[in-house]
Amino acid sequence: MATTYPVTRWKVGSATITRVVEIEGPSPGTFLFAEATPERLLQHAWLQPHFLTPDGRTLGAIHAFVIESAGRVIVVDTCVGNDKPREMKAWHMRQGRFLEDLAEAGYPRERVDTVLCTHLHVDHVGWTTMRVDGRWLPTFPNARYLFARAEWEHWSGEPEGPDRDARNDSVRPVIDAALADFVEPDHRITPEVRLLPTPGHTPGHVSVHVASAGEEAIITGDLMHHPVQCAEPAWASRFDVDPDAARATRHAFLAQHADQPVLVLGTHFATPTAGRIVKSGEAWRFDTSLPARAREAPELMLFLPSFIMAVLGVIGYSGRASWWGIIPALLAIGFLGFALAMAASRKDYDNVRRQYPKYTRREHVLTHVLLYFLLPGLVWGFFGLPWLDHWINWLRH
Ligand SMILES: [Zn+2]
Repeated sequence: MATTYPVTRWKVGSATITRVVEIEGPSPGTFLFAEATPERLLQHAWLQPHFLTPDGRTLGAIHAFVIESAGRVIVVDTCVGNDKPREMKAWHMRQGRFLEDLAEAGYPRERVDTVLCTHLHVDHVGWTTMRVDGRWLPTFPNARYLFARAEWEHWSGEPEGPDRDARNDSVRPVIDAALADFVEPDHRITPEVRLLPTPGHTPGHVSVHVASAGEEAIITGDLMHHPVQCAEPAWASRFDVDPDAARATRHAFLAQHADQPVLVLGTHFATPTAGRIVKSGEAWRFDTSLPARAREAPELMLFLPSFIMAVLGVIGYSGRASWWGIIPALLAIGFLGFALAMAASRKDYDNVRRQYPKYTRREHVLTHVLLYFLLPGLVWGFFGLPWLDHWINWLRH
């Protein structure tokens, strides 16, 4: 079954980050920033086509990122949610397919072991709970829910305001179920994943840093809402609790990560969502032309090494020159490479796991080495080589 929006996945060393979208589309720029008239937005030509429509409306998204790292499954931000009374018409009593899409992407809600909200605004806590028989129950029954301590202290002490409903139906039930952990803003979740304090938008706001095998990615949270803020870092979102602190955080973030090999994933950035910050004059811009390794390798590419080795093997065997003796060995390495590549393929693993939830990574690797290495090796060794030998001899006579 297809998901409502395409699912995107990035590899960061041995960790993966998967984007599951709840809502994506255009809206007037002035919804977010007082300065963002169509005229001013259209001055930044690089925003098109991904982040700006030809008539100057901003393109944005509400999505969750799922990080897989060190055996953990971490959902970062839980969007708007279903069945919730909200002031915003588009968010009121939604009936979206987010949970089905999440499962389709490989993450049935039982599989999630950690939920992290970058902050406690209404569009980041929605799916922490779901309505069951008229009650709000935690959506992810096997997860610990992480909230920055300062964030909860701020909101729990502030009785009124548009986010009060969200606190009551989406945060308190999780705390009541004793599933919440209040953490420091630099908390480490796995050896590869930790929080970065980025206060301003809200007092306890955090971003998420992923570092693995020399590669690095950062999930922004709402320190930026739209890529235009790379070029206009002084534009404050209407929803910033402390606009000056948010400006300072944003400026420092842009300066620190510009022209670095850091994959930046915007929490409200429309497709393609990920990019790098590039210095541009006095400010910056967001460059989505990523190096190939940041994208997921197409499945077909996995066939290439073994195909090349197979061709070389046949040529080598029919050539019969002495140094060609190395070819069968290369062929074997090629098949092993293919077997391991298939075994490492997350997509393939997730596909099988959807039917057999208890299927482990180890079983996956073993099956693939057996299927794509040992079995073809045996068949090739026992039948292929003698047959080729026979055929070549026949040709020569
Ligand atoms: Zn937000």
